[in-house]
Amino acid sequence: MKVFVNKTKIIATFGPACSDVSVMEQMVSAGVDVFRFNMSHGTHADHLDGFKKVREMNKAHDLNIAILADLQGPKIRIGLVRDNMEVLEKGQFVEITNIECVSTFKKLFINYQNLPKEVEPGDSILIDDGKIQLQVVETNRKDSIKAKVIIGGKISNNKGVNLPDTKTTVPALTEKDHKDLKFAIKNGANWIALSFVRSPKDVLELKEIIGKKNSYMKVMAKIEKPEALIELDEIIRVADGIMIARGDLAVEVPQERMPLIQKDIILRSLKYAKPVVVATQMMDSMIENANPTRAEITDVANAVIDGADAVMLSGETSMGKYPVRVIQIMEKILTNIEHANLIYNKEQKATSSDTFISDAICYNAARMSSDLGAKAIIGMTFSGYTGFMLSSFRPKADIYIFTENEDLLNSLSLCWGVRAFHYDKFVGTDTSVRDVIRILKGNDLIKKGDLVVNIGSMPLSNRGRANMVKVTKVE
Ligand code: PEP
Repeated sequence: MKVFVNKTKIIATFGPACSDVSVMEQMVSAGVDVFRFNMSHGTHADHLDGFKKVREMNKAHDLNIAILADLQGPKIRIGLVRDNMEVLEKGQFVEITNIECVSTFKKLFINYQNLPKEVEPGDSILIDDGKIQLQVVETNRKDSIKAKVIIGGKISNNKGVNLPDTKTTVPALTEKDHKDLKFAIKNGANWIALSFVRSPKDVLELKEIIGKKNSYMKVMAKIEKPEALIELDEIIRVADGIMIARGDLAVEVPQERMPLIQKDIILRSLKYAKPVVVATQMMDSMIENANPTRAEITDVANAVIDGADAVMLSGETSMGKYPVRVIQIMEKILTNIEHANLIYNKEQKATSSDTFISDAICYNAARMSSDLGAKAIIGMTFSGYTGFMLSSFRPKADIYIFTENEDLLNSLSLCWGVRAFHYDKFVGTDTSVRDVIRILKGNDLIKKGDLVVNIGSMPLSNRGRANMVKVTKVE
């Protein structure tokens, strides 16, 4: 199976439009590196079917496609709506209640018990991705809120609710999330995304549960709440990866702020060597159309120029008409930008890190690869740290990571420029350097005369952080 390899990774959301294994294979062949399973939709049986297909493809074609399970998080919703369609008129008043009922244009049920207690007069209540806007007039702090319709429109069953002005006390993980998390751990997801992260505590809580289950699953914090922007650095520091979840983010913060927020989150993630994903509506029009708009092409290209590790597709692949073509087009956009020199050799880094020795090794290996025109940087890792760190410097040289940690082989697929290989012979530095070069040569990834930069830990048997750099001319 021929597979397109870009430095910027592509995440495709699994769904009915791509659940056939031959479609998935074509998508992988066109450039997909990660399949995302959105726990907000579908059953565990659907997801399990997808997980199995990814694993079978990996086995059959010797690939490392990663599985990302995306938890719904504490999403607030309206319930059932009379005849699945009611209209709220601009200027009218509507009662909002936390007592379950079928909603009408006069009385609306919202499934968050503490809502009457936590809203204040003047707060916005947004429905259906912000299409409808209500403003709180008064609340009895128990079970009823009076609100005015500022922007009206149609409402239908189970639409999402956003509360951009209200500091809520919803738990980070709902009962459903706990069940989905158990499923994801049991079935070997490589990454888990947590929706509506508000503080580093949310991420740490999830990491603690994962740790207790002895799982290596990596945690991605979805940035989509204004509260998360306040503690952004600390959230990035404790998470393994970041997703800029622009769908909810652009409802929760004034939408015109989103482009600069995207750039800021990417820069900070690079600083902490955490992979960062730009998500939502990247090629949205391709859900229906065979070609993206000019604005979408430019959005994907700009995300790469901003420094994203990965770009993500949602409805385009899960329910769109062109799940393969959208990847083919995205891949061409990525390739085009990667041929230009403006995305390489980033230097920004967090200071006073307790891993400053290996950070310096990675940084200098990346710099050296640029100075020497080296074809590849080759690292060895158990924790994955070397892979994440090397990637964050965005070297033009290819990054090959060798590890005995099977879980990492797939998780690293989400990191910009990284390709991972299994290696478990820890006999000595010279032998290992020779071995990994031989393996890469055997895979036609490097050839005689190429310069490669090896980094590793000496003595190898200690499995410590990188403390050695070696330059080799391939024989
Ligand atoms: C988003 O809000 O942009 C997002 C990726 O999350 P979800 O698809 O779960 O709404």
